[in-house]
Amino acid sequence: MSHEQACPRCRTHNLLAVLSLPDTWTNASGNQARVISDVPLCARCDADDPFAGPVVTYFAVHGSAQPETAPHLARCLLRWIEHARPPKPDRNVLNAEAEAWYCGDL
Ligand SMILES: [Zn+2]
Repeated sequence: MSHEQACPRCRTHNLLAVLSLPDTWTNASGNQARVISDVPLCARCDADDPFAGPVVTYFAVHGSAQPETAPHLARCLLRWIEHARPPKPDRNVLNAEAEAWYCGDL
């Protein structure tokens, strides 16, 4: 956890956690490279996220991790981690293309 790193989306220092996910990246020549993707959890950007939101709410209510509610925080964090995905700009472009293709087919 770091409070010194700025959120890459809103540029404020509201990050609650940064999750480092191991990921594979396929480059243009088809070679796979192992990379670590950082998934930030931002108190500002992720408050409405269905999985990150509960973690944001926890810290908004309690301020920091409290021993008596640690199991609840752990459940929130685990749910977020389970659903967290590395940012995939290339895949988003592919999805947009696929959607455009489907729309054109209708
Ligand atoms: Zn943010």
